[in-house]
Amino acid sequence: MLKPAVIKSLPALAGPVLSVYLDTDQAKKDNRGLKPGYLIRLESQAKKVSQTLSLDDQEPFRKQLLETEAYLQNHPPRCQGIVIFAGGKRKEVFPLQVPVEDEVHWGRPVLAQLLWVLEEHKPYGIVVTGRKRVRFFLYWLGEVLESQEKEFRLEPSKRKEMGPVARPGVRLSRGTNRDVFERHRAAEYAHYHQQIAERIERWCTSEQLESVFLVGLAQMVKAIKKQIPSSLSQKIVLIEEALGWVSQTELLDRIKPVVVDHERNREMASVDALLGDRRNAVVGVDATLVQLQQGKVRSVVVMKPLNGTLQQCVSCLWADRTSDPVCPSCGKQRKSVALRDVFPDLVRRNNASLEVVSAEAGQRLQEVGGMGAWLREFETKEYSAFA
Ligand SMILES: [Zn+2]
Repeated sequence: MLKPAVIKSLPALAGPVLSVYLDTDQAKKDNRGLKPGYLIRLESQAKKVSQTLSLDDQEPFRKQLLETEAYLQNHPPRCQGIVIFAGGKRKEVFPLQVPVEDEVHWGRPVLAQLLWVLEEHKPYGIVVTGRKRVRFFLYWLGEVLESQEKEFRLEPSKRKEMGPVARPGVRLSRGTNRDVFERHRAAEYAHYHQQIAERIERWCTSEQLESVFLVGLAQMVKAIKKQIPSSLSQKIVLIEEALGWVSQTELLDRIKPVVVDHERNREMASVDALLGDRRNAVVGVDATLVQLQQGKVRSVVVMKPLNGTLQQCVSCLWADRTSDPVCPSCGKQRKSVALRDVFPDLVRRNNASLEVVSAEAGQRLQEVGGMGAWLREFETKEYSAFA
C-alpha cells in the first residue's frame, strides 16, 4: 500500500524524472499476451514525449525508459494500474487496484493523477467482531489489508461488587447465584465492548479513516457503537451480520457494495448540503478559486472528471479563468494549464481538503459548474472580488 511519506518525498526527486502512469488492467484482453497493450502504449507515448525534448535530455530519457520497460517485462503487473517515477538511481513503483489513465512525462515528477487517486479513495476501516477476537482491516485503494487482530479477554470489571460466583461443577440454575452470574456476564460484556470502542476510536483518528464499517451480530455491534463518542459515531456504519472467519476476498466481496452505496449517499448528502447553504458555501469555478486562493476555504467539493483550463502565474502560482496575460496578484507572466493538473496542488497549498464526487452527485454539482466549497468558520459570503 502507498505510504504518505513516500508520496511527500516524490517532488524532491533529484534531476529530471520519468513519470509513467499505465492502465494495466488484466481484465482487458489487450493487456494480456506476449506483448501486452500497456507496453505498446508506453512506447508510443514515449515517442511523442521524446520529440519534444532537447538533445541533452534525449539520452537520460532513453535510459530511464529502457529501464522502466525492462522492469515491466520482468515484473508483469498484476494490478489495475501502475505508477512509476524513475530518476537517477531511484525508482518508485506504485501498483494500484484502481483505474489509472496512461500518461508519460519527462522533467519534474508529475503527481496530479496520483493525488486525484488519493483524494478519490479515502481509507475506510472494517472491524469484524466476534465473541473473543476482533479483526481490524484497512480498506483503501480497492485493497483490503488486515492491520491487526486483537484478542479481548472477558474480564470482570467490578469484581468486588459481584460477590461469590459458583465454583466449577456447581450448576448455576436458580436463586441469587444465577442473578449474580448474569450481572457478572453483563458487566464483562460491557467492559469488552468498551475496550473495542476505545480501540476503534484511536484507530479512526490515527489513520484518518473516512468511515468505519462495524461488522457482527446486531446486539454486539449496537452495543459497541453506543460506547463510541458522539463526535465519531456518525462515522460508524453497522453491518449486522456475523461474518466471523471469512477470508479477506469474501470479506471484500461482501463489503464492497456497502461501501459503494455508502459513498454514493454521502456524496449526495454533501452536494445537497452545499447547494442548500447560501451562507457558508460558494459554488462555481470562479468563486471557488478566488476564495480558495485567499485562504478562506475549508473544504472543496468537485465533480469527476474536472475539465477546463486556467491561466496560472509562473511566479506566485495564482490561477484563474480570466484571460489576462499577466498575473493580477504580482504582475508576472502567466501560462495556460489544465485545471485537472494543478487543482490538487492548489487545494493542498491552501490547506483545504478535497472531496471528489461522481455519478448522480457529480451531475447535480455540474449544474453549478462542477465545483463548490465550504468556507472556513467566520468567513461570510460577502467578499470583494479579487482586485
Ligand atoms: Zn503572480
